[in-house]
Amino acid sequence: MKPKLVVGNWKMNKPFDDAQDLILDIQNNLKDRKLQTEVVLCPPFVYMELITDIAEEEDSQFYAGAQNCSEHESGAYTGEVSAEMLASMGVEFCIVGHSERRKYFGETNAVIAQKIDLLLKNDIVPIVCCGELLEERKAGKHTQVVQQQIEESLFHLQASEFERVIIAYEPVWAIGTGETATPAQAEEMHAFIRSLVEKKYGTEMAYNTYILYGGSCNPKNAADLFMQEDVDGGLIGGASLKADDFCAIIDAGENVLKEN
Ligand code: PEP
Repeated sequence: MKPKLVVGNWKMNKPFDDAQDLILDIQNNLKDRKLQTEVVLCPPFVYMELITDIAEEEDSQFYAGAQNCSEHESGAYTGEVSAEMLASMGVEFCIVGHSERRKYFGETNAVIAQKIDLLLKNDIVPIVCCGELLEERKAGKHTQVVQQQIEESLFHLQASEFERVIIAYEPVWAIGTGETATPAQAEEMHAFIRSLVEKKYGTEMAYNTYILYGGSCNPKNAADLFMQEDVDGGLIGGASLKADDFCAIIDAGENVLKEN
C-alpha cells in the first residue's frame, strides 16, 4: 500500500484570524511527527501566503495547494488568478474541476483540460476532480459519466505529463451532505478509474497514480475508506475546517498504512 495523501479544501470559509488559528492548530498538532502521509492545505487565494510561508520551511508537514486557477495564461481577466502566479508564490498543488466549479461556474471538461495544461506547464500538480450526480448514479450511469470526465480532461496528456496528476473521485451526492459513499462504492469506482488509466498508460502508471476519495469523509469513516485497495487518500472539505478532525483523518491514513 502506498502512503496516503490527505488534502484539505477550505472552500470559501473563515475570516483571516480564524484561518490563521486553523493553520497554527494544524501545525502544532503535526509538528515533530514523522508522518508518512502527505498533507496538502488548500486555503482561499487571499490566505495563500500563510501556508506557503510555512510550507517552504524545511520541517514543514504540509504543502500549499490552491482551489482553482484560470484557464488563461495571463492578461485582461479581472479577478482571475493564473497558474504562473500560483507557482511564483510557491504553490505546489491545485484542485481543478471541483463539482462546485462545474455547477456554479459552468466549467466544462474542455476548460478543465486547459487548466491542467497550464498547471503542468508551471510545475504544479493538478488534483483533478470527477464524480457523478445522484440521478446519474440512480440511472446506473456513474461509471460512464466519470469515464467521460477523465477521458475529456486528462487523456490528451503524454505519459510524462499524466504521471504528475492526481485524481479525486468525489460523488456529487456525497459532497457536503453528510452522506458518504460506502467503502465498497468508493472502491468500485476507484478500481474502475485505475483500469481506465491502465488501458491508456499501462500498469505501472495505473499503480502509481494517486486516486483520492472526497465526499463527507470524516474522522469516523476515514479509516474504512482508506483501507480500500484503490483509495490512496482523501480530499476533505468540511472536516478540514477543524484542526482536530483534519488531523484525525491524517492519523487514519497513518494507521491504515501501519496495519497493511
Ligand atoms: C469537497 O468539497 O471537496 C468535499 C469533499 O467536501 P466535504 O468533505 O465537505 O463533503
